[in-house]
Amino acid sequence: MYYLADFSSKQRVEPGNFIFTGENGPWEVVMDLDYVRSRINNDYFKKSPPLNSKYLPFMPIKNCASFISLGEGATPLILSKHIGRELNLELYFKLESQNPTGSFKDRGSAVELSIARELNVKGIVVASTGNMAASCSCYAAAAQIPCFVFVPEDTPSSKLSQAISYGGRIVQVKGNYNHAARLAEEVAAELGFYLAGDYAFRVEGQKSAAFEIADQMYFQAPDAVMVPMGCGTNIAGYGKGFKEYFALGFIDRVPRMIGVQAEGAASIVNAFQKNSRTVEALDRVQTIASGIAVSKPLDGVKALDAIYSTNGEAVSVSDKEALEAQYILSKEEGLFVEASSATTLAALMKLCRKGTFANRRVVCVLTGHGLKDPAPLLNVAIKPPTIYPEVGDFLKLYENSFFEGKTLAFFDKEEVIFAENPTRTELVQYVQKYFNTKLADEYLKHIEDTIAKFLKKGKPITFSDFQDIVQDVLETSNRATERSVTVEDFSVQTGKDIKPTAKVTVNAGGVRYEASASGVGPVDAVINALKEALTQRIDFSLANYSVQIRSQGTSAVVYAELKLTHKGVVSLGKGTSPDIIQASIEAFESAYNGLASRAE
Ligand SMILES: *Cc1c(COP(=O)(O)O)cnc(C)c1O
Repeated sequence: MYYLADFSSKQRVEPGNFIFTGENGPWEVVMDLDYVRSRINNDYFKKSPPLNSKYLPFMPIKNCASFISLGEGATPLILSKHIGRELNLELYFKLESQNPTGSFKDRGSAVELSIARELNVKGIVVASTGNMAASCSCYAAAAQIPCFVFVPEDTPSSKLSQAISYGGRIVQVKGNYNHAARLAEEVAAELGFYLAGDYAFRVEGQKSAAFEIADQMYFQAPDAVMVPMGCGTNIAGYGKGFKEYFALGFIDRVPRMIGVQAEGAASIVNAFQKNSRTVEALDRVQTIASGIAVSKPLDGVKALDAIYSTNGEAVSVSDKEALEAQYILSKEEGLFVEASSATTLAALMKLCRKGTFANRRVVCVLTGHGLKDPAPLLNVAIKPPTIYPEVGDFLKLYENSFFEGKTLAFFDKEEVIFAENPTRTELVQYVQKYFNTKLADEYLKHIEDTIAKFLKKGKPITFSDFQDIVQDVLETSNRATERSVTVEDFSVQTGKDIKPTAKVTVNAGGVRYEASASGVGPVDAVINALKEALTQRIDFSLANYSVQIRSQGTSAVVYAELKLTHKGVVSLGKGTSPDIIQASIEAFESAYNGLASRAE
């Protein structure tokens, strides 16, 4: 029914273990299409709905009863509501984000784990930092086979949470992804486990997405299919799927395969531009599109073959273009996908500017769900405002056209925009330029004061600082009463292995109080001193304190958030400063004054 061959030389290979990867290039599964043909009834096949089980005859699975399915595939193909019209083409989106673990990888994992079960393996091993780990752990759970996941040690645990909950046995490896991948292979060889990932059998699962597209278009193939490329396995699957359908006479042509990469990880695009069939590994990759941040694409030659043999193309897009496309997909179509997936739309918009696609039928494959990796989008998003539960506070934002402005800002966060105090006219211009909004004088004044305060500490104002200052000002209530508390000064003494002590001067309702206290750290000491100075007033307790550093470097601005409670009333305060203690004090001031105004 099938055999394994080296993809480049087409020589048959006979593996001695459960590792289906060649030394010098990928292997492939060669299906006996006559056998496939003998197993399907054309009329019945064409009429039945596009479900993964329908395509089982195309898969290298010996016994259908061993197929492990969690309802992967059968994902919607949606006609674009707005973008297609604007681009003057018939545009469809293939929502692979709707697979069980939120990415297309599940199609391949279903096949790999089914094969692992047929081979009766004792465990599977996979190296990955994200969606592959989640998907393999999920299907391993369904197959009841232990799954060992090797990740580089700096992988954020948020990305692994899915794999952890599926019972993936995660091991962090000192080194980068390539080290983890090599170790995974060696462990699989040593223990006789199945090495899962972008190897020969995965393509056989991925190709069902191409069958589905053809079915969903009533066997009229589209003109082009846009696929993001990391290892290149997915686009190879699409190419193979369309070719098999063409060979069986279900479609009368094979669509052009258009592969998309991020500019900072464009190994396959580089090869395409040189008209080469081999892919050179990159020394390093740099992109926010984590799903396609690959330096050495395992299936690069297969991806290139899919592209060349269909008269396709390979295109790269910048991170900014990907993020903008991600935003447009959400805002214009209601489709929230990963930045990696949005690269397909970004590339399409680029090609449309060259006029390549007028009136054509194009499918953009949206490979993964937006909730998988929200960090890049949150990084450029303008923070939502926080207000007191009062209509007046809301109207203040509304009337200052806060919501008419931008919700994302694509600027270099670290670019310095004020190294010295701006004039009022300059400030108005900058607010207009970056936030698309006009602010009342009281806010401008407040912004000027904050900028001056930062500059006094020796901190030039970057775009990200400016963004935070403007927002903080809009959010800050002008609720200050004559009874409100201001911290006039503070000092902290600390050193190695001694308990820090802090001294504070507080002005409360015109009366000045001084107090000192110690704490386990400088911030703790200051808060204790403030508590000491204010015991006459509200007896608050500290419910929460957190700091966040959004930019990089030791001169970064610190955002402190602090929650105080008093008799069931909760008040949240925020402060921003390049000085962590000052930021905490500001957060304290606003939380305390908020508490005071409501506790009365
Ligand atoms: C894995 C992945 C890709 C890249 O697919 P390859 O098969 O490695 O080319 C693209 N997008 C998402 C969301 C992914 O998880």
